[in-house]
Amino acid sequence: MSKGYRREGPNGAIVVDCPYCGSRAKRVGGDVIYPHRRDLAKKHFYLCENGHDRAYVGCHPRTIIPLGRLADAKLRADKSAAHAAFDPIWREHKFMKRTDAYKWLSEQLNIDREHCHIGMFDRVTCRRVVETANNYLEDMGVDLPEAFD
Ligand SMILES: [Zn+2]
Repeated sequence: MSKGYRREGPNGAIVVDCPYCGSRAKRVGGDVIYPHRRDLAKKHFYLCENGHDRAYVGCHPRTIIPLGRLADAKLRADKSAAHAAFDPIWREHKFMKRTDAYKWLSEQLNIDREHCHIGMFDRVTCRRVVETANNYLEDMGVDLPEAFD
């Protein structure tokens, strides 16, 4: 089964494709990504810097299963912004339960619920999350912080 960023190679091995250059990402230790974070040294990451900005993704705890697609610094910033806009809907304000909030988001973005994870989104989709979430929060009477860009 393909999840867009991960596929099964020969012998059932996990193969992670780089969305920036299309080549196969390397699996590396946390020491390569965060040399100063000893606590992360044993974690697994997928990395590619094949003619483009360094892009990587971490793995689910104690596995070599990637959390999403590889992201460069710009996409990581956009994903943080998407979470910062979207998470308050279910976390702080509790307007919806978390699962309902993701279902709502998938409908707003017209993305299958199964593929509706911020970790899988590209920069354009992350920006749509921010816009959609901010519109919703405004409609609900929430004072949003000043926009910045
Ligand atoms: Zn690459």
